[in-house]
Amino acid sequence: MSGPRPVRAPRGTQLNTRGWQQEAALRMLQNNLDPEVAEHPDQLVVYGGTGKAARDWRSFDAMVRTLETLGDDETMLVQSGRPVGVLQTHEWAPRVLLANSNLVGDWANWEEFRRLDALGLTMYGQMTAGSWIYIGTQGILQGTYETFAAVAAKLASQGHSGGTLAGTITLTAGLGGMGGAQPLAVTMNDGVAICIECDPSRIQRRIEHGYLDVAADSVDHALTLATEARDARRPLSIGVLGNAADLLPRLLAMDAPMDIVTDQTSAHDPLAYLPLGVELDEMASYAAEKPADFTRRAQESMALHVEAMVGFLDRGAEVFDYGNSLRGEARTAGYARAFDYPGFVPAYIRPLFCEGKGPFRWAALSGDPKDIAATDRALLELFPENEQLARWLRMAGERVRFQGLPARICWLGYGERDRAGERFNDMVASGELAAPLALGRDHLDCGSVASPYRETESMLDGSDAIADWPLLNAMVNVSSGASWVSIHHGGGVGMGRSLHAGQVTVADGTALAGEKLRRVLTNDPGTGVIRHVDAGYERAEQVAEDRGVRVPMREG
Ligand code: NAD
Repeated sequence: MSGPRPVRAPRGTQLNTRGWQQEAALRMLQNNLDPEVAEHPDQLVVYGGTGKAARDWRSFDAMVRTLETLGDDETMLVQSGRPVGVLQTHEWAPRVLLANSNLVGDWANWEEFRRLDALGLTMYGQMTAGSWIYIGTQGILQGTYETFAAVAAKLASQGHSGGTLAGTITLTAGLGGMGGAQPLAVTMNDGVAICIECDPSRIQRRIEHGYLDVAADSVDHALTLATEARDARRPLSIGVLGNAADLLPRLLAMDAPMDIVTDQTSAHDPLAYLPLGVELDEMASYAAEKPADFTRRAQESMALHVEAMVGFLDRGAEVFDYGNSLRGEARTAGYARAFDYPGFVPAYIRPLFCEGKGPFRWAALSGDPKDIAATDRALLELFPENEQLARWLRMAGERVRFQGLPARICWLGYGERDRAGERFNDMVASGELAAPLALGRDHLDCGSVASPYRETESMLDGSDAIADWPLLNAMVNVSSGASWVSIHHGGGVGMGRSLHAGQVTVADGTALAGEKLRRVLTNDPGTGVIRHVDAGYERAEQVAEDRGVRVPMREG
C-alpha cells in the first residue's frame, strides 16, 4: 500500500541502483522528503507553500522502483511528479528529464492549475522541490546573507551604517523553509531582526535548527528586545507570533524604528497566506472549501501588509520585495502604490548574475559531514583571493546545521563552478571523499529563469517576460551532460508569473563525469552571462570578454 511514511535517503557507498548517476537521483528525491528537510513530508510538500517532490505516494514509489533498475543508457521522464515513461537514450543523456507545473499561456493561472491538480493531473514543483535539489534552509541562506550584505553596503554608501547591519533593525515576516533563513542572514551581518510568523511550530523549528535566537511574547516585547540589542550593537533575531497583515500596520502606528523592511510569507500562492480574521487551524479547510473567498480575503490582507511596508518606505526605511509576489497580490486587491518599492534582484543581485553567479550547491551522497568539510577546504585552496567566499565558508562551517544529506551552497560564477566541479570529481576519484557528490543549483540562477516580478524584474532592455532563456538553458544542460534536467512553471512567484529550469550533475569520480561537469558547469552559468550581455549589461559584456564567452552579435 502506498501512503505517507518517513523517507530518508540511504547513506554510504552501497548502491541501490545500477550506477551513481541513478543513485544520486534516488537519494536526492528521498532526501527532499526527509522530515529533517521537508516542511510537510507526509503531504510530499518540501517547501514554498505547496512545492512537492512527487505527485502522490504511488508516483513516488514508481519513481523509486524505476530508478532502482534504470540503465546507463536509459532516461526516465517525469511529468509533474509522476514517472510517465522510460526511453532508450545514451550515456551522455540525462538519466531523468522532468517537466513540472507547466501550463499553456492562457490557462496559466491558479484556478486552472488547482482544477487540474484536484483531478490528479499535475503538481506544483516550486523550484528545487520538484527537481530534487532542495538542501533545507541553507539553500537560501547564502543568497539571503549576500542580499543583506548588499543592503548594508547601500546603507553605508548613504552614510547610514558602517558597512554591516550592526545598529539596525530589520522587520520581516515568514519563517518557512526559505523565509527561515532571514533571521540568521541578518545576524550573520551583525544586525537585529524581528520576524513575524503566524504558525508557532515554524518559530519553534527555526529555534531548534539554530536559525532563530529567541521567541518574543508579544510585539511590544519584540520591540523592547530589538531596541536593546540594536543599541548594544549586538546581533539578535526575534520571532513573534502573529499575522503580518495585523502586526506590520500596528508597528507602523507605534512609529517603530525599522531600518529595513521586507517579507517572505508564502504570498506567491494566495491560498498559503493567512488572511486577517482566519485562525491558523481553520486555514487549510477554509482554503480547500472556499478558495475564491479565501483568495479575496488573503489579497485584501496582503494589501494592508504592503500598505504598511510603503508606510515604512515613506519614513525612510530601506524596503524591498523578497521574491514572493506580495506586491502583485496587493495590486490585484486594488492597492495602487504596491510597486513603490523594488524587488531584491534589480536592487541587489543583478550585478552578480552578470558574472554568472548564482546559488550553486552540492550534497554529499555519503551522508558524511567530513565530505563537505573537505570540499570547503578545497574551495579555499582553489580561490584563495576570494575573501567574501572565505568568510561565508567559515561562518557556514560554524553556524549551519545540516538538514538531511550534508550539503553546501556557494554563489560561484562563470569560470569558477567548472573548476570546483572538476576538483570535486578528482577528490571522489582519489578517495578523498567517501562517496560521489550531486552538484546542482536553485532555478533562481543567472540564466535559467524568466520571472518579471523577481529575477528578471526591470531588465535593462525591457525583456522581463521573454521566456526563451530558461528553455535554452535547459536544452544547453541536456546537451552538455547533466544527470537530470527540469523545466518548471510558477516557482517563487506563482502561476503565470515565471518559467525556469534546473540541472543536477553527479561527480562520481569517473573521467566521463569529469567531462560532463566541465561542460555543464561552464555552459550553465554561461547562459546567464549571455542573457545579460544580450540585455545590454556592461558588467556582463566585460565578463564575456575577459573570460571568453562567445556572443555572435558582438563579433565581426
Ligand atoms: P513556506 O510556505 O515554507 O513558509 C511561508 C511561511 O509564511 C509559513 O511559515 C506561514 O505560516 C507564514 N505565513 C503565511 N501567511 C502569513 C501571515 N499572514 N502572517 C505571518 N506569517 C504568514 O514558504 P518558503 O519556502 O519560506 O517561501 C516563502 C516565500 O518566499 C514564497 O512565496 C517563495 O516563493 C518565496 N521565495 C523567495 C526566494 C528568494 O530568493 N527570495 C526563494 C524561494 C522562495
